[in-house]
Amino acid sequence: MFSNPTLPIPDYPAILATIYEEVQPLLSQGKVASYIPQLAKVEREQFGMALYCLDGQSFSIGAAQTRFSAQSVTKLFALALAYTREGDALWQRVGKEPSGNPFNSLVQLEYERGIPRNPFINAGALVITDILASRYVDSEIALLQFLRNLAGESTLDFDMAVAVSERNTAHRNYAIAHLIKDFGNLHNSVKLVIDSYCRQCSISMNCMELAKAASFLAKHGVIPWSGVQVLDRSSAKRINAVMLTCGTYDAAGEFAYRVGLPAKSGVGGGIVAVVPGELSVAVWSPGLDVTGNSLAGTYALERFTTLTSRSIF
Ligand code: GLN
Repeated sequence: MFSNPTLPIPDYPAILATIYEEVQPLLSQGKVASYIPQLAKVEREQFGMALYCLDGQSFSIGAAQTRFSAQSVTKLFALALAYTREGDALWQRVGKEPSGNPFNSLVQLEYERGIPRNPFINAGALVITDILASRYVDSEIALLQFLRNLAGESTLDFDMAVAVSERNTAHRNYAIAHLIKDFGNLHNSVKLVIDSYCRQCSISMNCMELAKAASFLAKHGVIPWSGVQVLDRSSAKRINAVMLTCGTYDAAGEFAYRVGLPAKSGVGGGIVAVVPGELSVAVWSPGLDVTGNSLAGTYALERFTTLTSRSIF
C-alpha cells in the first residue's frame, strides 16, 4: 500500500549487505567528535543501519542495536514537539533558511539580531528548547517521553555522563544562548536552557529505534505502528522540507545532491532520513567529516538511494 507503485520493491537485505561491505574502508577515515570529552571515548570503527518500512517490516545490518549519542538528531524531535504546541507562531522566533555556516557558529546571530537561521543549528535548537521550557515543567523529560512514544521504546534515556561532559565544556553554546538572551529571544534563564539542551542531546538511541521514531514523518504525521496522529499532513511536509534544506548544517546542499532525502544528523555519528510514503532509515558511524556529519553514514545513505532508486526526486 505504501510502496511506490512505479518501482519494484527492492531486495533490502541484499542492498544493506552490499552497503555494509562498501563502507568498511571508510570507517577509519572520519574523526570522532572530541569537543565533548565523553564522545571522544567512542570507538570509531562501528557502523549500523536500519530501515523501518510503513508496512511494519524492518531490516538492519551491523551495529543497528547499539545505542549511541543522538546529539543533534534530537533537534528534529524537539522541533516536532514544539510545532505541535506552537504551530506557525514558532517561526517568529526561529527562521527556516539554511545557515551556510557551521552548526555552532555565532556570526549570523549578531547581525540577524538573535533570530537563528533555522531550528537545526545550535542557536535555533536553543530557542526551541526555550519554547519547550516555557511549555513544560521539565522540557527534556517531555521530549524524552515524546521520543519513547514515537519509538514505542520505554527504555530510551539520557546518558548523564554525556550530558555533564557537554555542559562542562559548553562555552560556545553558552555564548550563543547569552547573545540570543540579549536580543530578547530567550524567555527562560540561560542556565536552564543549556542544562535542558545538554540533557536532550545526550539521549541514547540505536538505529532501529531512531528509524522507528522518525517513521511518522514518512507517513505524513501519523505513527505507522500505532495510528496516532502526531502532526497534520501539512506540518509533516514542512518539517521534512526544513530537514532537507537545513538538517545537515552547512553541508545540506551537498547532502541533498548526493542523497536526495530529508535527513537530520548529529555529532554522535547518527543520521536519520525519510522516504515519504515508504520508509525511514537510520545510519550510525561515529567518524565525522569536516562538517560534522557521519562520513560513512552519508556514503551509506547515498548508496541506499542509488541502489533502491528511492529519493524524493
Ligand atoms: N550537543 C552538540 C552541540 O551542541 C550537538 C551538535 C551536533 O550534533 N551537531 O554542540
